[in-house]
Amino acid sequence: MNNNIVEQIKDRLDIVEFIRQYVPDLKRAGKTYKACCPFHKEKTPSFTCSSEKGLFYCFGCQEGGDIFAFLMKMENLSFNEALEKLAGLAGVEYKPAKPLTGEEIRRANARKLLDFAKAFYHKNLMSAGGEYARAYVKERNLTKETCQKFELGLAKNEPTALAREAKAAGYTDKDLKDAGLCVLTSYGPRDYYRNRLMFPIINQRGDTVGFGGRILGEGEPKYLNSPETVLFTKSHILYGLNFAGPAIRKAGRAVLLEGYMDVIACHQAGVEYTVAPLGTSLTEDHARLLKRYTDNVVVLFDPDAAGIKAALRGALILIERGLFVKVASLPEGLDPDEYIAKYGKESFETVLNQAEDLIAFHTRLQLGLYPQPMDAQNKTRVISELAETIAKQPDEIVRREWAKYVAEHVGVDEQLVLERLRKPALQPAYARRQPAPSAGAAVASAAEEDLLSWLLKSPQHTVLCCELSQEDFSTAAAWKIFQAVVQAHGEDPQAANLAERAAQKVPEYKTELVKLAMLQAPADFDPARDIAACAAKLEQAGLHKRLEAVRRQMKQLGAGNVPQEVFQKYMQLQNKLKKYRS
Ligand SMILES: [Zn+2]
Repeated sequence: MNNNIVEQIKDRLDIVEFIRQYVPDLKRAGKTYKACCPFHKEKTPSFTCSSEKGLFYCFGCQEGGDIFAFLMKMENLSFNEALEKLAGLAGVEYKPAKPLTGEEIRRANARKLLDFAKAFYHKNLMSAGGEYARAYVKERNLTKETCQKFELGLAKNEPTALAREAKAAGYTDKDLKDAGLCVLTSYGPRDYYRNRLMFPIINQRGDTVGFGGRILGEGEPKYLNSPETVLFTKSHILYGLNFAGPAIRKAGRAVLLEGYMDVIACHQAGVEYTVAPLGTSLTEDHARLLKRYTDNVVVLFDPDAAGIKAALRGALILIERGLFVKVASLPEGLDPDEYIAKYGKESFETVLNQAEDLIAFHTRLQLGLYPQPMDAQNKTRVISELAETIAKQPDEIVRREWAKYVAEHVGVDEQLVLERLRKPALQPAYARRQPAPSAGAAVASAAEEDLLSWLLKSPQHTVLCCELSQEDFSTAAAWKIFQAVVQAHGEDPQAANLAERAAQKVPEYKTELVKLAMLQAPADFDPARDIAACAAKLEQAGLHKRLEAVRRQMKQLGAGNVPQEVFQKYMQLQNKLKKYRS
């Protein structure tokens, strides 16, 4: 049914006209249209699209696909979200196939209530009783337009102001708790936020998912974030990204700031490619999120000891995810809002432009710790410290450059730095895994071995692997074992001795299954998370393999001779892979 709708939508919507809304300067070039790519930074157009084919493709960054792929990438939507939106635009009737689950209903409710609370707080701020909060906002140089754009609000100093209003509107105590807005006590729900300036936290899709509240006057904590809820996971959100997304793509970089106020002040000044984590240290999820928009990040930090440490830690997480990171700090210990107020936007952007490469920054810090010239012992210390940073760099070429830089600046032979890097502790985590299965074994890859052994421990998670196919496994044996485990579990989900029952299906791999069943899971094993990640890793590797094969095929056929089916297969694989690029 969905396929039919997808085709109907594609028939009704012209991809060129649709893309034009996002890329206004599309120009005709023969049968296709060209423009500078909205997904990567460039000066000469390499982005093309064609009404006839219903496809777009960028020769610069290799993004490509149909109208769905474009919208999903542009607005970070899931396929179903894109389908809903495009169906609306095309006037095609579309109802989600499945009824909502209990969890989905809870989420929808929480979302509605958060919108309700946002409007309530905002009204408070703008009303007569909000005078004192408005005075604070003004003191921080925020304009009325900015307050409106960021939908700032006020939680008054009353224990049940929001709870009363929400219940009058039909929300329950449980709704209030689920949304992280109230605490349930024996006296009934009590507002979580009191006497605070409220910052709605909005995710990149534009949904309100929580709040940050700054105390007005004295009190602790200064900033209070929503507790984690069905909608809100701190580590998944960057404040300001709902507005910053397009600006980040356009500028070709993102700037990471420390807090809400910094982000708002920068946006008000027109530096809109700025975001901030929510009072937590940077996580891998943040890095993944940023990577959807850009490869370049500037980390702006407080030049005190804590700030420097946090900047370094954050930068390392970012480079591990393949981002290029520079670091900068503002002179005179000024915050971004103070700096912009004093020196203006241009000067602020100059500081960002002069940001220091991560390795230069770290080297400078290390050299500053010891008296110069350094003795051999101190040099060794510095090198082993810096080697940890170099080792985190996944790009081989950059890693070599960094090693060279460090060698030159510390005054040692480059070979010495490279040797440091070969220490096992500095190998990437997956390479450190012991013992890796030997080549030629039935299960020859570490990821496959992990997946199979984890499935034997938590077979209810086999559903997370339903996308895997034979091509995703490196050996036929691994695929057979996988199938045997899935089948044996399916036949009797409650029964124990899964490995044994699987072995009855593939007696030739009995020893293998025993070994898999005996393997220890990591101490922090989280079955759902780890199995999903492992399955994704295998699927991704499999897709790469298939894509490579199709690419070779296309190359052999030569430009102009590629049949439609082959090209379609290529686009399909690209599309599937895309979900891993984020
Ligand atoms: Zn591009």
